Amino acid sequence: MSDQDKAPRPMKVLVTGGSGLVGRALQQVVGEEGGAKDAEWVFLSSKDADLMNPEETLSAFLEHEPTHVVHLAAMIGGLFHNMRHNLDFWRHNVIINDNVLQAAVKVGVVKIHNGPPHETNFGYAYAKRMIDVQNRAYSQQFGGRFTAVIPTNVFGPHDNFNISRGHVLPGLVHKAYCAQKEGTPLVVWGSGRPRRQFIYSLDLARLILWVLTDYDEIDPIILSVGEEDEISIKEAAEAVVEAMDFKGGISFDTSKSDGQFMKTASNAKLRRYRPDVAFTPFKQAVKETCDWFAANYDSARK
Ligand code: GDP
Repeated sequence: MSDQDKAPRPMKVLVTGGSGLVGRALQQVVGEEGGAKDAEWVFLSSKDADLMNPEETLSAFLEHEPTHVVHLAAMIGGLFHNMRHNLDFWRHNVIINDNVLQAAVKVGVVKIHNGPPHETNFGYAYAKRMIDVQNRAYSQQFGGRFTAVIPTNVFGPHDNFNISRGHVLPGLVHKAYCAQKEGTPLVVWGSGRPRRQFIYSLDLARLILWVLTDYDEIDPIILSVGEEDEISIKEAAEAVVEAMDFKGGISFDTSKSDGQFMKTASNAKLRRYRPDVAFTPFKQAVKETCDWFAANYDSARK
């Protein structure tokens, strides 16, 4: 956008996917940190506009006229949901991203920042990678400063705790909760040996705020804990067991897929920008997530 010629508008941030896992964490962090440098924030949820629809997307952007966008909305799911619906994941995410970027250009957004959680199977993964192509094209053609963040496995309060469609951490929390009630073991799917880097949604939200205000590259940035903090699914299950004081034991259902064994991501670029970056200890974050789920069982997405 060539907003250079016009008087700068006050910062107004539109967050798509504002009621999801990362959106809710961002709401909390923005509240805590005093509205992120006086910006006005609008959190959009799927009830406000269907981002699969170009007209609805544009009218939401025209209504709010944001200067900055944090684009979190996406079709998201865990390994098992992805395996069944690669085509849907590809189409929904490509269409949503195209609609959001087009609408952003039309209302003169100066900075957009795509941050959907998790990389999974090819439908989802290719749609997500297209964002980088789109961002570079928008930068060339309109001068937009649109960038993408790539988080590793995100978890926290307000996640989707659905066992068949969701990701591993909320799935384990929900399964342990049920197993505790029923007096059965916690069944971990697969061998428990695959390894993942987990990031707490509130830590991610703080980093997203930093990207929005201080990161000026078009090239994406990985937002993740370090490679040394990668843990096995078994260790993740043990953290859930400890946090819930679950006594029923763990078993492994090796008839279920392990998915990708490792997807180790380097956070060297993040550390270069932010040598001070600190993350909530994993066990503490798991405990807070388990406590949130137990306290909000009736209303949690599951
Ligand atoms: P991914 O990191 O994109 O593969 O997605 P997930 O968050 O769904 O993690 C999948 C990994 O966790 C695989 O190794 C699964 O075998 C393992 N896993 C163990 N139990 C569960 C569970 O209850 N739900 C899910 N989604 N994965 C599980």
